[in-house]
Amino acid sequence: MNCKLTVPISAQTPSEAVIQAQKASKAGADAIELRADFLKGLTPQIAADLVKNIKNSTNIPLIFTCRDSAEGGQNNYPSNLRLQSIIAAIENNADFIDIEFANFNSARDKILPLLENSKTRLILSTHDFEKSISDPGKIYNDIKAAHPDAIPKIVCTANHINDCFPALDLLHSTNDDLIVLCMSPAGIISRLLAKKLNAFLTFASLEDAAATASGQVTIEQMKNLYRFDKIDEKTALYGIVGSPVAHSKSPNLHNSLFDKTKLNKLYLPLLVDGGSDEFNTFIDNIRKRPWLNFHGLSVTIPHKQNAINYTTQQGGSVESLCDKIGAANTLLLEPDSIKAYNTDLDGALDSITTAMNITRESFKDMSVTIIGAGGVARAIVAGLTDCGANVKIYNRTLSKAKTLAEEFGCDFAPLDELKNINASLVINCTSIGMHPDFNASPLPANLITQEMTVFDTVYNPPRTLLLTFAEHAGAKTIEGTQMFINQAKAQFKLFTNIDAPGDITF
Ligand code: NAP
Repeated sequence: MNCKLTVPISAQTPSEAVIQAQKASKAGADAIELRADFLKGLTPQIAADLVKNIKNSTNIPLIFTCRDSAEGGQNNYPSNLRLQSIIAAIENNADFIDIEFANFNSARDKILPLLENSKTRLILSTHDFEKSISDPGKIYNDIKAAHPDAIPKIVCTANHINDCFPALDLLHSTNDDLIVLCMSPAGIISRLLAKKLNAFLTFASLEDAAATASGQVTIEQMKNLYRFDKIDEKTALYGIVGSPVAHSKSPNLHNSLFDKTKLNKLYLPLLVDGGSDEFNTFIDNIRKRPWLNFHGLSVTIPHKQNAINYTTQQGGSVESLCDKIGAANTLLLEPDSIKAYNTDLDGALDSITTAMNITRESFKDMSVTIIGAGGVARAIVAGLTDCGANVKIYNRTLSKAKTLAEEFGCDFAPLDELKNINASLVINCTSIGMHPDFNASPLPANLITQEMTVFDTVYNPPRTLLLTFAEHAGAKTIEGTQMFINQAKAQFKLFTNIDAPGDITF
């Protein structure tokens, strides 16, 4: 397994390029790619000196690239200057040179004799900045036919996560040195799974602003969040399916749990845009490929209902309360079966009972105000009414409050009636107060009393304005992070069959 974690160097001056290369090496990069086309005023002599300097000041392999602007290069350098710079890189012992496959024929007579007498290896690359490639195998074969010793590099753009599968299939199909990557946020799995699928390399940026392609993660994230050094071909896969998922804390939490428990498992952000068709296709795609080794998924907006429908259509099992809630946030994938669960409910109820130091029996006849009537409200209402609580639902869209209330035998009202609130437990299930809406609260300070327990399901920020108001009123408060941690711990148990370690940080 030799997938090289490679950091592209996109400096505009040679001295900055050397600094970036040293930083990349210090950060644990296995290789660097010097993007010489980013340098201002490039000459073959500058290329030669820079390759020498970087080789002297780092001890990791160097890929020299001077990208044609037709394939995303900077500064529009003419082909002769690019070719002369590449020749200078070979003469100064660059470990690899990358040439666009489209330009190979015009360069081969000058390049191949030099390569024969050097240790430099040739990467032949293709790029599509607009779309994915349905048959990357054809490009692979064309490159190998043109020059069997070349390392093919096929880069395309995923407009949807489902576009990534032909790239993953090609990596899976060969043990040859090969690079296949899908750009864009939808293509991130092609970067994160490169090591598992034994790709020749994958890229990570030094920092967000230094990314040379859309969807690149930083080397710090690759190493610490996605545990690059621990991945191998046996790594079992998990992830969060939703849209958006980029800001989800679930990868941080689950990967840190896998790390603490020393499990060979990786948890991925899985951006699945669209509705049930796209969701179903995605789940079919991963189930059709057992070699990917996907075992479990967290499911978030907008696919919680789709997860139940898919499971039912496939003859899988849906946990009974999950069925009643009409939303699943966890799927377990086994070779011939699929199971749906909802851990939001237990996550929320356990947070309340722990904070109030009560058991679930104590919910009987408790007066509870729920603000909101979306997915989280639905799970909590199902759980609390199941325990016999007296629940009243307040929502901006009254018809949604009415539908939910009628289904679970509760009362309902519009938000402006909160002025008459009379409850011992108040739960915010709206996104009011969530990042970046820090200065908003679903309930004004003057309506909160010392006798109340106030639970805000919003977990970003952990301390919302509502909870600050409640604290000032002397009320007991419960943060959404507690529910988030509890539901994730329950998922972890479902994923691994072992209890999550007690102290959780993410
Ligand atoms: P959802 O199904 O989209 O429901 C959103 C709810 O918020 C609806 O009732 C909506 O009212 C209401 N709402 C949104 N913006 C509003 C506004 N400006 N004014 C008044 N009401 C507004 O979302 P969900 O899945 O239930 O998630 C709700 C919140 O729960 C999220 O924002 C998140 O912070 C939190 N959450 C926490 C956890 C955890 O583990 N702690 C897990 C998941 C979610 P309408 O019906 O009128 O649109």
